[in-house]
This record gives sequence, C-alpha cells and structure tokens, in this order.
Amino acid sequence: MAVATEETWTCDLVPNCPLEKFSTSSKLHRTDYHSLQRSIQYAGETVLIRRLGGQDGKLECPCGEPKHARYNYQKISNMCSLRTGHPSADETKYNDWTEDTYSQRPRRIRTKSTTPAGSNSDSTTSTSPPPTSKRKSDEQPSSSRNIRPKLQSNDIIECVPNTDKLAVLKKESDRLDKKLEKKKKKEEAEIRDLESQIEDLKAEIDAKRQQINAYRFRE
Ligand SMILES: [Zn+2]
Ligand SMILES: [Zn+2]
Repeated sequence: MAVATEETWTCDLVPNCPLEKFSTSSKLHRTDYHSLQRSIQYAGETVLIRRLGGQDGKLECPCGEPKHARYNYQKISNMCSLRTGHPSADETKYNDWTEDTYSQRPRRIRTKSTTPAGSNSDSTTSTSPPPTSKRKSDEQPSSSRNIRPKLQSNDIIECVPNTDKLAVLKKESDRLDKKLEKKKKKEEAEIRDLESQIEDLKAEIDAKRQQINAYRFRE
C-alpha cells in the first residue's frame, strides 16, 4: 500500500519542470520559482527584483551580483536578511537546492528545548556582534561606499550595549518617576478637597430643596 506523504501536484507553468521537486505545494512553487517579479527588503528599502529570462529563469539579486541570481526566491531572501551583511559573490551557502541539499534541509520542527523562540535574536545580537562589523567601524567608516557600511553601523547600535548611557538614562528615569509621584500626590489632595466641596454643596442643595418644599405646602 502506497502512502502519500505530501500533496500530489504538478507544475502547470513549465512542462516537466525540473524545480518541481523542491517545493511542497503548487502555490509555493509558483511564487518561489516562477513569479516574474517580487518585492524584497534590501538595505532598508523595499525593491523590486525581476526573474531574468522569463518564468523559468533565475531571479536577480538586488545587489546586482550575477553570481547571486537564484531560481528560488527564498534563497535571495535569505541573502538579503543576514545580520552580518550581504554575502560575497562566491558564497555557496545560499545556492539553489540540489537533490542532495534538499533532502538534507533542516525541517521546521519546533523543539522548545533547543531554540527558545523569543529570546533567540536578542541574546545573539547583544552578546556576540559580528566581529567584522566592529573592526570596520573602528577604522574608517566610509572607505568603501557600497551598501554594507550602512547596514553594519545599524547593527552596532543594536548590538553593543552602552552601559554608561544606560546608567544615565536609568537615573533620569528614576528622577522623572519621583517627580510624577509628587505630582500625583498633589493632585490626589486636590481631588479630595474638591470632593469635600461637592459634599458641602450637596448638603446646601438639600437644605434649599427642603425650604422650597416647605414653601409649596404653605401655598
Ligand atoms: Zn515549475
Ligand atoms: Zn546579492
């Protein structure tokens, strides 16, 4: 008895599509492998990239490096979202799937013990900033004016905690807290005062009403 593990579907855009085996659904396959253009976040901006040579061609990389062109949109997306900066032209880690690499790809299985989802990005950024970015900024910040220095300087602001500045901010925050506390007490006293005035006025109103009633009975 044959057991179907994944949905059966065929690529209806390219006959005998050689990339069909690298997608799990028809919908994902169309958008990852055959979309004629896609928008992507690159260097802090949303840019449009085209699939070169039609729907069975490769997507261009927004950096313009021909060696970065990929069939799979996800691979371009991976290269554009690295905290360590855009990879070099010869980096092979983000190549399109081959049958070997696809069969060994990491599956998305949630293992709570190994990857705490929320703390992951925070802890890695604050404790281990990418070493290359730190060295670059200590030297000359703008020796090569491509997109990289911009990204790296952003990373540094995020990554390296400035303890002096933190202490100053903490003090300032404490001072404001105390000031607020004082103001609050003063206003609470004012409210109590106003409330007692209201009580007095209510009593006055009641007295007047009784007077009015007394007049009515007299008529
Ligand atoms: Zn296809
Ligand atoms: Zn690129």
